[in-house]
Amino acid sequence: MHRLQAICLAALGALGLLTLASCGGDGSTPPSGQGTGAGGDPAAGGYSIVTTCGMVTDLVTRVAGDRATVRGMMRNDVDPHTYNPTRNDIATLEAADVIFYSGLNLEARLSDALVRMAGSGKRVAALTSGIDPKDLLEPEEFEGHFDPHVWNDASLWAASVSVIRDTLSAQDPAGRSGYEERATALEREILAVHDYAKQCLATIPEASRVLVTAHDAFNYFGRAYGIEVHGVQGVTTEHEAGLAEITRLVTMLTERKVNAIFVEQAFEEDHVQAVVEGAQARGHDVRIGGKLYSDAMGEPGSYRGTFVGMVDHNVTLITRALGGKAPEQGLYGKLTW
Ligand SMILES: [Zn+2]
Repeated sequence: MHRLQAICLAALGALGLLTLASCGGDGSTPPSGQGTGAGGDPAAGGYSIVTTCGMVTDLVTRVAGDRATVRGMMRNDVDPHTYNPTRNDIATLEAADVIFYSGLNLEARLSDALVRMAGSGKRVAALTSGIDPKDLLEPEEFEGHFDPHVWNDASLWAASVSVIRDTLSAQDPAGRSGYEERATALEREILAVHDYAKQCLATIPEASRVLVTAHDAFNYFGRAYGIEVHGVQGVTTEHEAGLAEITRLVTMLTERKVNAIFVEQAFEEDHVQAVVEGAQARGHDVRIGGKLYSDAMGEPGSYRGTFVGMVDHNVTLITRALGGKAPEQGLYGKLTW
């Protein structure tokens, strides 16, 4: 079966819906499996929410409960930095009552459409608007822009839950108590996986606390959990990794005797592979320590397809690959490898 079709069918299965748009090759975006199939409760004034990437979709789905339908626009195999909205996506956004996105220019090619939607009076909210700007990173290479990958510090992503709670309460005041209850429970869960991350990553021997990944998505992760981070590719994936950058990384890995680097879901592995080969050519053995979920989550309907599961996976994998101590099956024993 064609891979896209398989994903679509899995998504349909997870959603339990039979009436979603076709997965055919008409250039349209197939339905995301990251949304809820709750269908909204018409008696409760059920309304429709459209979200962008999986990390946003998961949180919104949790807080919305059965008060609304949530539809995620981006599948878990797409890179949000370079995702171009299709005509279908624009129509979906236009038809939505509420739109949530991550922001800080993560969904760079959706910006115009989002600004237009907000201008038309629709409720459009960026989850990162809930984060205190003093907590945002502005690395030099971002040339005056904030780093958008805030979710990789789970405590910051927990702060974005309040944006969902407040936006949905404004849209549907009758549902307020439910939104508040679910938001509080969700924040607690996210903070629990944040604590797990702090504890596990602190067990990595000091010298090995170096995280090399496919692209620069882990600056917040590094700051929150005390690990030095390097991306093979620049901060957005629109720049190709230069040979000089690869050489610099090979030197660093060889000198510091770091033995594992990581690939990422939804990103090409070629550049990471080039670093592995470069290090081996210098007689230093580096292996690929596994695949991280940086800007996209796991399969819809799976544990890794939730934000908490994504963080649990990343933390457990990184800790163990770099010589630290973490339970093999993660925080809740739900990870199988
Ligand atoms: Zn990214």
